[in-house]
Amino acid sequence: MPTDIEIARQATLIPITEVAKNAGVPDEALIPYGKYKAKVDTATLPTTSNGKLILVTAINPTPAGEGKTTTSVGLSDALHRIGKKTMLCLREPSLGPCFGVKGGGAGGGKSQVMPMDEINLHFTGDFHAITSAHNLLSAMIDNSIYWGNPNDIDLRRVTWRRVLDMNDRALRQIVGPLGGVSNGFPRETGFDITVASEIMAILCLASDLEDLQKRLGDIIIGYRRDRTPVFCRDIKADPAMTVLLKDAILPNLVQTLENRPAFLHGGPFANIAHGCNSVIATKTALRMADYVVTEAGFGADLGAEKFMDIKCRMAGLKPDAIVLVATVRSLKMNGGVPKGQLTEGENVDAVRAGAVNLKRHIENVKKFGITPTIAINHFYLDTDAEIAVIKEMAESYGADAVICKHWAEGGAGAEDLAKIVAEKADAGAPDFDQLYPSEMPLAEKIETVATEIYRAANVAIPSAVRKQLKQWEEMGYGNYPVCMAKTQYSFSTDPTALGAPEGHEIAIREVRLSAGAGFVVAIAGDIMTMPGLPKVPSAENIYLDENGQIEGLF
Ligand code: ADP
Ligand code: MG
Repeated sequence: MPTDIEIARQATLIPITEVAKNAGVPDEALIPYGKYKAKVDTATLPTTSNGKLILVTAINPTPAGEGKTTTSVGLSDALHRIGKKTMLCLREPSLGPCFGVKGGGAGGGKSQVMPMDEINLHFTGDFHAITSAHNLLSAMIDNSIYWGNPNDIDLRRVTWRRVLDMNDRALRQIVGPLGGVSNGFPRETGFDITVASEIMAILCLASDLEDLQKRLGDIIIGYRRDRTPVFCRDIKADPAMTVLLKDAILPNLVQTLENRPAFLHGGPFANIAHGCNSVIATKTALRMADYVVTEAGFGADLGAEKFMDIKCRMAGLKPDAIVLVATVRSLKMNGGVPKGQLTEGENVDAVRAGAVNLKRHIENVKKFGITPTIAINHFYLDTDAEIAVIKEMAESYGADAVICKHWAEGGAGAEDLAKIVAEKADAGAPDFDQLYPSEMPLAEKIETVATEIYRAANVAIPSAVRKQLKQWEEMGYGNYPVCMAKTQYSFSTDPTALGAPEGHEIAIREVRLSAGAGFVVAIAGDIMTMPGLPKVPSAENIYLDENGQIEGLF
């Protein structure tokens, strides 16, 4: 089997101007970044459609991922093949995972977005712009403290850190500025990875530049001694930060291996943020195409819930159909097969045992008023009997299940899925509703997600956390949705509790207010905002060959 980059190298790309023309983007709205990438000026783009929104999510994954991105690409190409005008919307990948654990964010096999090397590396500079805007605020905070601290910021309570788009554990917790009077006042701080920046979440939730600047101004950068918040606008950084982000806010147009259009825009973490591409990209796509396929990070317990309760709530969006990706290997793992033995031959019983995970995700998605369609993402070693069990089980839970082979065959391998999903999207989702109303108190929102979606028997919210939540409600943040941060491998907070655990406790360790992004983060478990590199990072195998071609990028 050729690797992803080998397949990518053999691809015949068409100029981005042609991709744009096919997608209905007029010349005046296209801002080319070289031959195969462009930004789209959403202000001058005419509205030619009122598309249907299709969300791709998944059951609890194996560490390798179950193919949400790959399936989103394959489904989008397949919809084109059956004559549907479609746009694909995905996140932009971060450099961290590229050089860390093998695996990019541009799909795989014959379902990829192109040019995958550029997409996985610097792309159009959006992450650079976000990093710069974030660090401009950091610099202005320390500068303000240096020049007499007019906002009376408590040096021990500066919550705004610095960011960089790299896995670098050495920077997680640092002390700065050191070196004497001319450098400022020493205090403890640290770095997060750029995708964990609140600015990433803001860029992805903002409706336009004006809203972006307002949200930037609303960021809380720290507190005074009396615990009152200091905002970004108090530092007067928000207008200049908006200037740095004025191009990054425009969606990036690229193409799939089958030359179909795709927006790749924004890439917030799926734990301390909501994990989907920008609202601007999704809304722009809906104005241009009849069907829009988009992905939410992690499994449906985290990704789909946040997509609906955070992104759709804020943007006034609603999915018309939901695709739930399942694989034989993830069901086997959820059925008790150890990670290292997933490729050791047919195991129908394990697949059947693991189907409890699929069942629960189907039940959960139904709570939003939509019955998902199960996409069985076919892997080379899967047997007919194993696939038949998934189909049979899914149908017994009331969901259609379709085998798809887009990884091996491209869009042609997902046409059956496309037909069913298009039909469902056409019928729409009249019963769609969020899990909880905005008016619900914050603690109750956390309890609702934990009991309804994670099926916790008990939700432990310490009294200090409850007090904090009450305080935020008094400050006017009570109508914010909650953004749950927990492991993606289990419904519980124990990553080894696979299948469909019940009777467990969800303990909320900490809450954070993302006042600019517009949500309250509730942390259950250990959440990393600056990942580290593994013992042998994939960076060790990435190089330019004698022809100047990139090798080792997956
Ligand atoms: P997710 O978006 O759910 O994290 P991806 O679509 O990125 O998952 O896929 C994870 C990895 O699995 C990628 O390296 C991809 O190439 C690979 N993959 C996905 N589907 C298949 C398949 N059907 N056969 C083999 N490899 C696959
Ligand atoms: Mg993905």
